[in-house]
Amino acid sequence: MSKKLLLKDAHIEGIRTYDVYRRQGGYEAVEKALKMTPQEVVEEVKTSGLRGRGGAGFPTGLKWSFLAKPEGIPSYLVVNADESEPGTFKDRYLMEFIPHLLIEGMIISSFALNSKTAYIYIRGEYSWIPDILERAIDEAKAAGFLGKNILGTGYDLEIYVHRGAGAYICGEETALLESLEGKRGNPRLKPPFPAVKGLWESPTVVNNVETIAAVVPIINMTGAEYAKIGVGKSTGTKLISACGNINKPGVYEIDMTITVEEFIYSDEYCGGIPNGKRLKACIPGGSSVPIVPANLLLRTLNGEPRYMNYESLADGGFISGTMMGSGGFIVLDEDQCVVKHTLTLAHFYMHESCGQCTPCREGTGWMWRILTKIENGTGTMADIDLLWDVQRKIEGNTICPLGDAAAWPVAAAIRHFRDEFEWHIDNPEAQVRNYGLANYADPIPVPAV
Ligand code: SF4
Repeated sequence: MSKKLLLKDAHIEGIRTYDVYRRQGGYEAVEKALKMTPQEVVEEVKTSGLRGRGGAGFPTGLKWSFLAKPEGIPSYLVVNADESEPGTFKDRYLMEFIPHLLIEGMIISSFALNSKTAYIYIRGEYSWIPDILERAIDEAKAAGFLGKNILGTGYDLEIYVHRGAGAYICGEETALLESLEGKRGNPRLKPPFPAVKGLWESPTVVNNVETIAAVVPIINMTGAEYAKIGVGKSTGTKLISACGNINKPGVYEIDMTITVEEFIYSDEYCGGIPNGKRLKACIPGGSSVPIVPANLLLRTLNGEPRYMNYESLADGGFISGTMMGSGGFIVLDEDQCVVKHTLTLAHFYMHESCGQCTPCREGTGWMWRILTKIENGTGTMADIDLLWDVQRKIEGNTICPLGDAAAWPVAAAIRHFRDEFEWHIDNPEAQVRNYGLANYADPIPVPAV
């Protein structure tokens, strides 16, 4: 049984309200943190080893320590709640069901960063959640945890919720800041980084919802105790939103010591694959991370079990591994067509490209057109090579990571399932678009669970 830190009270009736949250020990971490110095709070977060939960996995305490502190200039905390990566819905769960956990984490983090104003930038499609968050903010304010002179310490903080308009690119931190300033959500060239010139040219930290929520247990239990959970540089717990061909889709909190096999097949988590189907592939970290076939998902190339943590999932690089990413775990069973699946993602990234840089703007369209040809049965073998060439020319040549996010799924699909692409071209009349396991060259294990 995995240790629960973020979702431990999620099942308690009324936990969304201040009174119930407080009865469960809520806001005790704020009381504790405000007796420390901001630098001590930063040190606790550094000691915890907490890595950003939005996708990049950068150490949070280190990111905070980069914040510039020029005299007389305000600094800001901005919570990135623009959760739009296909397959990722864990921040939604946190905000919807335990909003005070985020508000409490924001008060502690803002104090550590000496910010007197903080924002939650939330994606437009989560239309019902801002009301929940604003109610929690009002309750926290009425209880003296927000506003002027919090708990008599002289520290002031206001939190505002800002609704996005539904653009995936606004999840990129500099595009988010542009949008928050009221402009079109175009990513900025870096440097300067937001820690130096962020919101309204002031030093700004942008952190994911889950990252900020995790600061609460870190302060409660100390960074050193938090660091004992998990393994290696994957400390603490991680929320995983699991979907696709599994019996129990949902949001799970894991301590990153379990194997991928256990996560998929045990009843505590995904509960296996419906109708006894076999596992074909998985995208374990949201749609932008490389897809891996079942045999490389469950075991590394060395034959070691693959674990649900940053290092193990990345073992083998992009040749045989993948990434933890945002924790959007998408499972594909033997009936799923990788070509069609890749086409669906390519359409998404083409649609969401902001259009600023040519490799992304033009390349995403090219990938979608070539994939459409292959999926429709009019592709040629040369198209596979052309597709490979196009994605290579996008990766690493763009202003923001959306270009890479669009290229990686295509590269991984060709790398691991090239024979399925070839089969589509050789069998243009076939009604069943899935090349299928029966013809797949490598035996794909059926775990004995
Ligand atoms: Fe815009 Fe794509 Fe360039 Fe990012 S990579 S700035 S989304 S065109």
